[in-house]
Amino acid sequence: MLSNPSLALPLEKGGKVAEHYVGRFAPSPTGPLHFGSLITAVASYCDARAHQGRWVVRIEDTDIPRIYPCSEDHILRSIDAFQFEPDADIIFQKDRLDIYEQVIEQLHTQGLVYACQCTRKMLGSNHIYQGTCRELGLALKDQAIRVKVDDQDICFMDRLQGTHCSNLMRDLGDFVLKRRDGIINYQLAVVVDDYLQGMTHVVRGADLLDNTERQIWLAQILGYPKLEYMHLPLAMNDQGQKLSKQNMAQALDLNQAPALLQQAFAALQQAPVDLDTPRIMLQQAIAQWDIERIPHRLTLAQIYQ
Ligand code: GLU
Repeated sequence: MLSNPSLALPLEKGGKVAEHYVGRFAPSPTGPLHFGSLITAVASYCDARAHQGRWVVRIEDTDIPRIYPCSEDHILRSIDAFQFEPDADIIFQKDRLDIYEQVIEQLHTQGLVYACQCTRKMLGSNHIYQGTCRELGLALKDQAIRVKVDDQDICFMDRLQGTHCSNLMRDLGDFVLKRRDGIINYQLAVVVDDYLQGMTHVVRGADLLDNTERQIWLAQILGYPKLEYMHLPLAMNDQGQKLSKQNMAQALDLNQAPALLQQAFAALQQAPVDLDTPRIMLQQAIAQWDIERIPHRLTLAQIYQ
């Protein structure tokens, strides 16, 4: 656990703490939100609200070189345009770097992380890190930081995709928490903030399914509680690629919010929702939310742009 409890964030504006369900939408501002992001936002919101849960938004902007100009602004305008109602102020991970550094320090004291001086070139095409620097005892400063993993199967039951397992030592090796250039890796920031924000449920795209065992491992060594996961099928473009900022997926047109919401509910195979203001449409979708209807697949059959 974090040694300094004051790092925990206030959970909500009102004061009452609901612990049975806290969900989130956690976009990275590496481009404007697209239809795939909307599916994630809608599903995480409706699932939280259908469980009388809380829902928050977190901007995952630790990877500064990958931040795309104005995308943070587009995310914030999208939250407003689609009339999502977060239960806490939106947090930005770039304001929280001290917290992640403190967690790395704590793991170092426990002998669970180490500095690694291997360059990409030295590692070559081998994607499984062999632990070359594990026993070198290098100083942490100006080096990549890796966390030690064990030779054990980590399994979880995804609410849509079923059982998913990985043996991190066999499949990946000790993985990076902080890059040599000082950038905090997504895996660490997501686990620390899910804990500090009191998260109980993660609803996100299936492209992150394979990251989950790393996050479960980190949560386990940090003594954080387990989370429930639901990985949604991904919207694909006509090239068979997932919609992503890198693939130039079209930015959400915020003037078309009601029509886009209808398409998102249809993609999630929910009962149809009447055209109205986004707030009323979301209310109707929450009232009829049924995860049994969401396709249990990694990708959606229909093509989107
Ligand atoms: N920031 C990640 C993304 O935009 C999502 C992280 C998560 O939901 O765990 O892909």
